[in-house]
Amino acid sequence: MTDALTSVRIDAPVDEIRHWINGRAVPSLSGAHRVGTDPATGGPGADVALGTADDVDAAVRAACDAAWAWRKIASADRARILWDIGRLIRRDLDELVGLEIRDTGKPLESARAEVRGAAEYFEFYAGLVNLPAGDIIDVVPTQHVYTLREPYGVVGVITPWNLPINQAARAAAPALAASNVIVVKPAETTSRTTTALARLATEAGIPDGVFNVVLGKGSEAGSALVEHPLIRKLVFTGSVAVGQSIGRVAADRILPLTLELGGKSANIVFEDADLDFAATEAVRAFTTNAGQVCSSGTRLLVQRSIHDEFVRAVVDATERLRVGEDFGPLITRDQYETVLSYFDIAQGEGATLVTGGDRPTADTLEDGFYVNPTIYTQVDNSMRIAREEIFGPVLVVIPFDTEDEAIAIANDSDFGLVGGVWTEDLSRTLRVSEAIEAGQIYVNTWSTAAVQTPFGGQKASGYGREKGIEALNHYTQLKSVTISLGPSRAVQAVE
Ligand code: NAP
Ligand code: MG
Repeated sequence: MTDALTSVRIDAPVDEIRHWINGRAVPSLSGAHRVGTDPATGGPGADVALGTADDVDAAVRAACDAAWAWRKIASADRARILWDIGRLIRRDLDELVGLEIRDTGKPLESARAEVRGAAEYFEFYAGLVNLPAGDIIDVVPTQHVYTLREPYGVVGVITPWNLPINQAARAAAPALAASNVIVVKPAETTSRTTTALARLATEAGIPDGVFNVVLGKGSEAGSALVEHPLIRKLVFTGSVAVGQSIGRVAADRILPLTLELGGKSANIVFEDADLDFAATEAVRAFTTNAGQVCSSGTRLLVQRSIHDEFVRAVVDATERLRVGEDFGPLITRDQYETVLSYFDIAQGEGATLVTGGDRPTADTLEDGFYVNPTIYTQVDNSMRIAREEIFGPVLVVIPFDTEDEAIAIANDSDFGLVGGVWTEDLSRTLRVSEAIEAGQIYVNTWSTAAVQTPFGGQKASGYGREKGIEALNHYTQLKSVTISLGPSRAVQAVE
């Protein structure tokens, strides 16, 4: 059998993944679908529905129809449903892990951690359904003034392919806890688990239309979602370029955005740090998920007095990693080709390659999108490999002499997602943590950023916050209500 849209020859049955709209799986209104690629083998991936503006419209309308009833459900019932989604994720953990591995090729343990993390989002926000409330404001005795934290209504969520179910859950759980209804558009390449999550939400008792998934390409289904007039808030995780284009459309509509756009985060190692642990964590920081993590530590700033010794430790630890076991392939063919192209760019820029810079030769990895973990030294912060997010297991090492110089290099970046600080000096910890322009600072660890901790960027890394109690502020809008308790003259100026 040959799929007309891709000419991919399919010899084995492939998973058919369809939109989830109004509580059921539905094909595209146009009938279009396409078979993707398994990043671990280069063979066929899932057969995924390709949505257009019509499918997006059906999903958004279903969401609109469900919005008021979801908002008016008793908060304890909303909490029970969210908690149950978490429970069902844990019940079906193995199945979800299997789906995620087939889409991404990631190793079992990282897929498990990702799916468990998805359950944690629902568990955490199930306990916070009452939080987006409001305050009573003391103005004058003749008025009762209060605020309400209200849902936006239909929230559009566009997610990338690096942590598919985790990023879908990261947005869905707080959005739903705050009484919004959602339409999620996952990356076309990794559609399996987001659709499975919506199916589990329906099983958990979420009313039809509250949690919808539209599949397809960003340029088609994604842009239709951004442009849909009934979307009231949009949450996007992905590249700066797409974030900017969404921002332009949103400007015309005054559409509030949360943007999570990646980073080029500096991990600063001072000479007084616990260097053994710092080296281990520096490796984890750039190789986890094959470097396909927005919060990767990809610029390693090392104090010159320990530079050679420390780089040796980092290289040794990196060379002990087993590609395909400790981390998987690049998840998309595009991303694989992008990372390979940066190997050429690095060479052209005159950086010194100390390990990697190529793909593994093992037969078992031959057809997948694997690359070796790669480290460059003699890197100047003005080089493209120091400025651009490569989104692969590629580390650049930059020496520094003084604390001020380290801070200046760390901040000389368009991005501002994470700053890592390694030192035993408490005063320096506090000074550097304040000076670095980033949404997150990790001191003497490269954090895995818990569900409870707010997460987001400064500068080109984006704005708005995900996770923690803070996320609820980004899924609600504030209304104030002023009630006169009896005839009285207004004393305030009129806005
Ligand atoms: P991307 O193009 O920004 O895609 C992210 C999501 O946006 C996907 O669901 C994509 O759909 C969708 N999209 C694409 N164009 C769109 C448009 N015009 N309107 C609405 N939605 C649209 O990211 P990518 O191509 O997958 O990766 C490229 C780079 O992005 C990476 O190299 C990395 O630097 C960065 N990235 C960052 C993160 C992060 O966590 N911050 C995650 C992934 C990637 P389709 O993919 O289905 O077309
Ligand atoms: Mg793209």
